[in-house]
Amino acid sequence: MRYVSTRGSAPGLGFADTVLAGLATDGGLYVPASWPSLPGSLPASYADLAAAVFAPFVDGEIDPATMQRLCGEAYSTFRHPDVVPLVELEPGHHLMELFHGPTLAFKDVALQLLGRLFDHILAERDERITIVGATSGDTGGAAIDGVLGCDRVDVVILYPHGRVSDVQRRQMTTVAADNVRTVAVDGTFDDCQDLVKAMFNHVEFRTRHNLSAINSINWARVMVQVVYYVEATRRLGAVDVTVPTGNFGNVLSGWIARRMGAPIRHLVVASNDNDILTRFFESHEMITRAVVPTLSPSMDIQVSSNFERLLFEMNGRDGGLTAEQMATFRATGRLAVESDQWHEWVEPVFRAGRATDHDTLETIRRVHESTGMLLDPHTAVGVKAAREHLGDLPMVTMATAHPAKFPDAVERATGVRPALPAHLADLMDRPERTARVANDLASVEAFVEAFVAGR
Ligand SMILES: *Cc1c(COP(=O)(O)O)cnc(C)c1O
Repeated sequence: MRYVSTRGSAPGLGFADTVLAGLATDGGLYVPASWPSLPGSLPASYADLAAAVFAPFVDGEIDPATMQRLCGEAYSTFRHPDVVPLVELEPGHHLMELFHGPTLAFKDVALQLLGRLFDHILAERDERITIVGATSGDTGGAAIDGVLGCDRVDVVILYPHGRVSDVQRRQMTTVAADNVRTVAVDGTFDDCQDLVKAMFNHVEFRTRHNLSAINSINWARVMVQVVYYVEATRRLGAVDVTVPTGNFGNVLSGWIARRMGAPIRHLVVASNDNDILTRFFESHEMITRAVVPTLSPSMDIQVSSNFERLLFEMNGRDGGLTAEQMATFRATGRLAVESDQWHEWVEPVFRAGRATDHDTLETIRRVHESTGMLLDPHTAVGVKAAREHLGDLPMVTMATAHPAKFPDAVERATGVRPALPAHLADLMDRPERTARVANDLASVEAFVEAFVAGR
């Protein structure tokens, strides 16, 4: 299997190189040259199912027995025997709980495997990398936990000082591993992201330290998430699925599962007040606005990077055209699609919904009242949208975080403060280690330099 860039001018790569590269050199995202079909018979265990779904994408670059072992190791870190259990919320409406991994958000599903995948590929090549990433909350903890125990991967995570929740910060800063460092930057999340981009654009620095990224544009993250959509249809048959959406990574994985033959009818894209995608699916036009903070911060995004992969398909896989549209979008903040593209690609598949913070709190409160279950605010956005699209097929709403990860919103809605699971019960008492660094490229680079030199 070869991978091609959505902007058409970067060289094609094999699986392992695609995983290590993250972003293509032309600024595009890698996608497989063709979409394979699902295997005819699906293995029963989640780890075996994962290895079977990945096989055509990996295409022998990692031998199947090794892939199976890595999947087994990754999913043994989940606290539930089903890995991603289905729970019935109300008749015909199920939650797929994606939050039983170590850091309580769905990002663990991909990042627990990705760390192991990186380490395996690097051992074969006798190389090391330093992952540098910015986080607004969930990705940092999941990335750090995903590389614990990796021999060949060091990680530095930048987060905005004072702007992530206590639980989120402590999930990063209480990890006492030699290959992990966290940096509290005096600035916003956008400042952190700009610092990371600047380090990647500083080619001499990037090359000298073998910098790598594991944000959600990495193909492997999208690929790994396909499995739980297949799992949902393996258990329930044909379904509609609702996905709380920010960067369009999770829901894109659902689209890929559908494209590979999983019986998914509609994908409902659920947004909070940052509803650029919902407005797009209602109006055929994507128009950016300023980001507003909400109770579901992991969805506070205005430019959903992974949408580019769907756009590339809608453009008949024309990379030149996709590159042009992305440039126009960046310059003007507007992107429109033709009506024939709409009828072929969007209308049959996508539905959309939104929830304000008020809707989110109301949904958490009512679900608790009628079922006793506690929803996190991201999942609540999904449940609200899903209920507006219930049809004749079972609905599955992806539950993307554990309620204890966002205890303030849950308590505000229900009066109940959700408890952290046992493995994190003493999180608030563990010693923290972090560095406070100025919002300035030279200072952050000096920090990375000193860390790598000591490894
Ligand atoms: C990251 C995240 C999302 C958004 O997922 P995307 O793949 O960016 O669409 C939703 N909910 C939670 C809890 C998250 O951490």
